[in-house]
Amino acid sequence: MTEITKLYQYNTLSALMSGLYEGTMTIGELLKHGDLGVGTLDSIDGELIVLDGKAYQAKGDKTITELSNDVKVPYAAVVFHRAEVVFKQRYKTTYEEIKQRIESYFDGENLFRSIKIKGRFSKMHVRMIPRAEEGVKFVEVSHHQPEYSEDDVTGTIVGIWTPEMFHGVGVAGYHLHFISDDFSFGGHILDFEMDEGEVEIGAIDQLEQAFPVQDRKYLFAKLNLEELKKDIDVAEATQDK
Ligand SMILES: [Zn+2]
Repeated sequence: MTEITKLYQYNTLSALMSGLYEGTMTIGELLKHGDLGVGTLDSIDGELIVLDGKAYQAKGDKTITELSNDVKVPYAAVVFHRAEVVFKQRYKTTYEEIKQRIESYFDGENLFRSIKIKGRFSKMHVRMIPRAEEGVKFVEVSHHQPEYSEDDVTGTIVGIWTPEMFHGVGVAGYHLHFISDDFSFGGHILDFEMDEGEVEIGAIDQLEQAFPVQDRKYLFAKLNLEELKKDIDVAEATQDK
């Protein structure tokens, strides 16, 4: 029997974008569904990074903490990463160039993929979404997000590539987070330059979409989907959007 790799999505980016920030799933539960992924924390207090089965929080004050199982998240996407294509990038490249090389290995544009890149980066530019009150739209919060750029840092990029047709469920295209090897620096990637590294592209066969079924705010929220999709472009995607 072939192994099935399932992307597990908890909640949707559209709900998050509309201001539903309350954490409703525990890290302990989330990690049963994957060992690599991205997301955010209760009250959008920073970026969630799931690497090798452990969950970390990169906060706007530039600290990184490993999260305990009882911490709750409002939104996350995780998968048990299974590399299908692995290649070495031996010379300096931009994020744009790496994206093109990664996509050259895709079979079409309609399947999700997991991405893991371990490398040395001459530049790594990240943001950490700052804690906000429920109801303040994400795109407004992102206008005053802390951003940091580090030179010469080694670490790992983790994330998901989402087909265009699922924009709103997640971010169409790349949604990547970074964490340094010494766990001192990380966040949601805006841009980078890589000196060298090993790139893993993981196959994803299925999407499991979970919802916060006991969250009244989610159940009865009226979402303006066209506006939310535009907000995702502004607030969540990386520079290509
Ligand atoms: Zn992110």
